[in-house]
Amino acid sequence: MNVQAPELEKAEQEKQEIIKRYRVLLRAAGSVGNERRKLIRDAFEVALEAHRGTYRKSGEPYIFHPLAVAQIAAQELGLGPNSIACALMHDVVEDSDVTLEDIEMRFGPKIARVINGLTKMSAVHFEAGQSIQAENFRKMLLTISDDLRVILVKLCDRLHNMRTLASMSHSSQLKISSETLFLYAPLAHRLGLYAIKTELEDLSIKYTESEKYEEIAQKLAATKTQRNRYIREFIEPLREKLEAAGLNIFEIKGRPKSIYSILQKMKKQGIPFEQVYDLFAIRIIVQSDPQREKEDCWRAFSIITDIYKTQADRLRDWLTTPKANGYEALHTTVLGPKAKWVEVQIRSKRMDDIAERGLAAHWKYKASGSAQSTPQDATFDNWLARVKDMVENKELNALEFLDDFKFSLLSEEIYVFTPKGDIRNLANKSTALDFAFDIHSDVGAKCIGAKVNGKLVPISHTLKNGDLVEIITSQKQRVHEHWLDFVVTVKAKSKIRNSLREEKRNKAEEGLEILERKFRNAKVQFNDQMAQRVMRYFNQLSLTDLYYNIAIAKISKDDLEVSKILAPKDDKPSVEEAVAVGRERDAKPFVPRKNEEIIVGDDHELNYSLAKCCNPIPGDPIFGFVTIGEGVKIHRINCPNAISLMSNYGYRIIKAEWKAKFNYEKAFQAGIRITGIDDVGVVSRITDMISKELKVNMKSISFGSHAGTFDGTIILYIYDTTHLNELIHKLESTNKHMTVTRIDLA
Ligand code: MN
Repeated sequence: MNVQAPELEKAEQEKQEIIKRYRVLLRAAGSVGNERRKLIRDAFEVALEAHRGTYRKSGEPYIFHPLAVAQIAAQELGLGPNSIACALMHDVVEDSDVTLEDIEMRFGPKIARVINGLTKMSAVHFEAGQSIQAENFRKMLLTISDDLRVILVKLCDRLHNMRTLASMSHSSQLKISSETLFLYAPLAHRLGLYAIKTELEDLSIKYTESEKYEEIAQKLAATKTQRNRYIREFIEPLREKLEAAGLNIFEIKGRPKSIYSILQKMKKQGIPFEQVYDLFAIRIIVQSDPQREKEDCWRAFSIITDIYKTQADRLRDWLTTPKANGYEALHTTVLGPKAKWVEVQIRSKRMDDIAERGLAAHWKYKASGSAQSTPQDATFDNWLARVKDMVENKELNALEFLDDFKFSLLSEEIYVFTPKGDIRNLANKSTALDFAFDIHSDVGAKCIGAKVNGKLVPISHTLKNGDLVEIITSQKQRVHEHWLDFVVTVKAKSKIRNSLREEKRNKAEEGLEILERKFRNAKVQFNDQMAQRVMRYFNQLSLTDLYYNIAIAKISKDDLEVSKILAPKDDKPSVEEAVAVGRERDAKPFVPRKNEEIIVGDDHELNYSLAKCCNPIPGDPIFGFVTIGEGVKIHRINCPNAISLMSNYGYRIIKAEWKAKFNYEKAFQAGIRITGIDDVGVVSRITDMISKELKVNMKSISFGSHAGTFDGTIILYIYDTTHLNELIHKLESTNKHMTVTRIDLA
């Protein structure tokens, strides 16, 4: 009836959509009482106002994002109104004029603290050039020991970002995905949030290993009907018997395994999709009182194994001893119809809720009084205490910290006893020395051996669940560097590193004295600037390193000739350059290119070299990896090493792209593999064609033949991917029995 300008119409539509989503959120929050409802509304209003007029990369109004994060918090994690409010406002301080003080005034100190933690965490977004997030991550963890909600909301935020990653640039996708695999999925695992962990993993490999992801997804879809039929066949006799036995069955379902876990299995066992036998698991959920739930699970187990044969060694009992993250269930593998092995998971409704939604659900059960204080409370608190230790250890550098933290996420735990009968909780595979450091750092530092269950063992002895451990010390003992090779706990590692550093610092003072004496003798004034110059001259990463290496004569007194050090050099690197590539002058194994072809990060001046493992050529999709001491290495995105680099060191990934134009005279090395039916003169025909007709230079050729077929490898000098593809195409078109593929060189 009224005529509106298109913008107005669009604005009206947006407004309607925002309100609709807000109502969906309120519904998910459930009945929370008026006061709590007002809290959510206030938070929504603050967020709405703060993000007004801003849009996401996908073109949606920004407020959709906090609304979605809050929705995940409410619906998928079952978090309460406070967390929902925090989720709504998680980007407010970061992205608008609203300050933490404003939030505190309006919502109180508790919520302000959570928002503060979230703001710190997002202070560095995944923009180009920012590759090291470790320090920020540590800052975030500083707040989680105060309030776990920070991390829970952060996980919701990450999950939504992963779900909407398609609209980001390819390099952001890779970076965010690899960081998710590296940190957030393990974190979700540690917190027992299996549903979120699985989704984060699947979404990540969708970008980091997109081809394999698609392949598995397609094959899963193609086999779905067949799989569902089998699951029905498996379940039918089961349900009847379970119900006949008086068990109250909440649900029996067949669940496909995640794409990520299927892919892991394929890789680990080197098998194709078709040979992964456990593509799904059957989950049986019993509804029972907390007092009877374990008994009911075991009863269900015995009924199932009456119907289907099982293997004794395929039983995993996490009822008696839950996993450190609180997971409780019985897992077994049985021989189902058509002689197929099927994994069966048995758990109660409560256990299932906790497994899917993690601690949030756990606390809810505790609060409602339906569960007593459980062993997992203790193990979790223990973990949190250790994280706190780690975070507060100023001596750890950011990367060491990340490694330690990552380890603490993934390790399961064992219980051992002190001679007095006290129980100590240690990471799985802990050694006697770890135990010693757990007791006290002095006990660790002086440890020379141990008695385990009365038997004398070396300090590197690996402990087992239930061991009784007595530590033997000696005043003569001192901390050794090689101890780091076998200890596993974060505590032992950091204590050992600390005392090594201490020792190094003391030693370094001697080195400084030697150096000062040299300068005095040469009658040159020694100051900070000089120290820096000497450090650069010997390619040392820090002054402490320099002095220490002088003290232990790794840099000999003869090398310390002041006149030589101060002599002008033709190609002296600037400080920036030295920092950028680490040990600049040690650079012999790699040749820093003069930034001709590739832009690394946003920086046109960063030096780099091409990785030997995949030899990128212009046109290949690439990324940079910040190495220690060898500057940035450029890899192909489908480099065989890329996945592990990206998933293990996501924070060191930096974007890289080929410049649109550069000197095309330069040739790059690329390898091709040619296979086909053997035939007289085939090799010379191929090489003639390459060198004479296509005018491509070859670096090396090797051919072999076997049972009427040949298989050859040629290393070529090529200009770019177009050039290479053209060559491959031309070679293939000469002979229909021949296949030509590009190969990695290393
Ligand atoms: Mn966000």
